[in-house]
Amino acid sequence: MPSYTAPVRDTLFVLNEVLDIQRYAALRGYADATPDVVQAILEGAAKLAEEVLQPLNAVGDRLGCTRHPDGSVTTPPGFKGGFDEYVAGGWIGLSMDPEYGGQGLPHAISAAVEEYVISANMAFAMYPGLTQGAIAAITAVASEEQKRRFIPPMIEGRWMGTMNLTEPHCGTDLGLLRTRAEPQADGSYRITGTKIFISSGDHDLTENIIHLVLAKLPDSPDNVKGISLFIVPKVDVNEDGSLGAANAVSVGSIEEKMGIHGNATCVMNYDGATGYLIGEKDKGLRAMFIMMNAARLLVGMQGLAISEVAYQNALAYARERLQGRALTGPKNAAGKADPIIVHPDVRRMLMDVKAFNEGARALALWGALLVDLADVAATPEDRQEADDLVGLLTPVIKGFFTERGYLNATNAQQCLGGHGYIREWGLEQFVRDARISMIYEGTNGIQALDLVGRKLPMNGGRAYKAFCKLIVAFLNPLAAEPAFAEFFLPLQKALGDLQAATGWLARNGIVNPDNAGAGSMPYLQLMGLVSLGFMWAKIAKLAQEAIAADRDPDGFHATKLATARYYFSHVIVETATQRAKVEAGAAHVMALAAEAF
Ligand SMILES: Cc1cc2nc3c(=O)[nH]c(=O)nc-3n(C[C@H](O)[C@H](O)[C@H](O)COP(=O)(O)OP(=O)(O)OC[C@H]3O[C@@H](n4cnc5c(N)ncnc54)[C@H](O)[C@@H]3O)c2cc1C
Repeated sequence: MPSYTAPVRDTLFVLNEVLDIQRYAALRGYADATPDVVQAILEGAAKLAEEVLQPLNAVGDRLGCTRHPDGSVTTPPGFKGGFDEYVAGGWIGLSMDPEYGGQGLPHAISAAVEEYVISANMAFAMYPGLTQGAIAAITAVASEEQKRRFIPPMIEGRWMGTMNLTEPHCGTDLGLLRTRAEPQADGSYRITGTKIFISSGDHDLTENIIHLVLAKLPDSPDNVKGISLFIVPKVDVNEDGSLGAANAVSVGSIEEKMGIHGNATCVMNYDGATGYLIGEKDKGLRAMFIMMNAARLLVGMQGLAISEVAYQNALAYARERLQGRALTGPKNAAGKADPIIVHPDVRRMLMDVKAFNEGARALALWGALLVDLADVAATPEDRQEADDLVGLLTPVIKGFFTERGYLNATNAQQCLGGHGYIREWGLEQFVRDARISMIYEGTNGIQALDLVGRKLPMNGGRAYKAFCKLIVAFLNPLAAEPAFAEFFLPLQKALGDLQAATGWLARNGIVNPDNAGAGSMPYLQLMGLVSLGFMWAKIAKLAQEAIAADRDPDGFHATKLATARYYFSHVIVETATQRAKVEAGAAHVMALAAEAF
């Protein structure tokens, strides 16, 4: 059976040393995040993840969710108890607004907790994860009365949230959606339509579910400019917040899918259901994007979290499994064979995953810190810069992390040979679970287009320039340090590849938009590699300083330095390939007529 140990030590290293969050102690939320508090939170989350949620992971995969003849849906055995413990620990409201019952702690802390929960049980994590996204959207656009009515019960864990965009004929192109909203005399709306693939669409974990539904009004344009956002409760909610009658919302079926079986992915039927408009009419997509941005960072975290748990299990196996002899002579002379961790090809796979995981953890938590700073940084300029950076990094974190997360899960599986393909070891579940994160919350192809088509040119390239400036400002003072050259030079070269590719896109994307489309995914990979390189360079610097000051009693920083060396010699070198793919343009991608394939 697979196991999981939350990487608390590494998370603390990122928060305390790489991001040095204590320097923000004067800012809202951070004042309460003292080192002791942060450590206690992470240790509590680790215990929950390891002891309560991880043991439910294989059960959830095997038994899945059930739709009963009366239309109700139940989650796998144990999920309800696990959720009750999750609620009792106050985990839903960790970084939510205290005004509505949250604890107001930084997102940098709740994101770290999310990693553990997802690693332990990704299907389970999606229930509270979507609720957090729904709360974010309601917070951003709903009226004060609506916020007071709907948010506190969600933070208390009595109700949950979902997001309903996708319909049978449209997922990416939401302008095509057909769900209708008819205005009623009392100010509510009647919602009619079918939504598919709705995560956590129905379940037995809470007494109510707050569906956020995109629909069109009769007099709205029949395109993306005519979409509004509605709250459609499973059980209607009276003005005083008490539960009313059951709403005309039903589950058509539970989708049979490749992974995340413990999450109920539902076909949802709205048959004249009562809905409440939130935000402005026809501005629903904008509101939903607020929810999706939070959700995209969370999905990026799924890539890292699955990669981490897959790595831990592959590593344990590689240390135990005896096959063959090391190329340089026996390492386990007393035994008939050496553990497979001696083989360079097994090492290559483990090092690829380890180097990703630790760099990605730093980048993910930096992204979460930027979410906080966009809100609470001391000056408008600092808030603007944080907002720009997180906007730029969101598609990178979602797209790059989930591409690598899936690849890493298959590499971890490969370390187990045939046993990796056998259910008992758990690796095949990680591979299946990881796959969806590349698809939902906007496919990775759409993330790449968002990066190249929107985020790069936005405000005259302000976010991209701020990103490059940060890296240059970090590198410049280190240019003359020979001991840092092994990190400085590869990062400088990778940044050069990024800048060259950006320039090429700016020139050639205008001439032919297909050039931007064809180069978008390699460009996203390129920016992901540079972003992780930035994190690894910071980590290497800290590790060098700790070792020089004799502050590395357990060899933690020496291991970081060795892993940084792997990243800069074996991983970041891929930027040259990605740049070449960007600069190859669209000509040969688009050369064949559709019928010639
Ligand atoms: C398990 C699961 C859970 C989900 N949960 C939810 C949920 O909770 N709520 C919800 O609303 N939806 C949910 N979805 C739906 C998911 O977000 C969509 O499947 C996804 O956005 C893609 O939409 P689609 O399936 O219609 O694919 P399509 O939009 O038909 O895309 C097909 C392919 O074409 C590409 N493509 C499409 N348009 C373009 C373009 N303009 N440029 C370049 N490439 C393009 C896509 O990248 C993709 O590779 C879920 C899906 C699954 C499988």
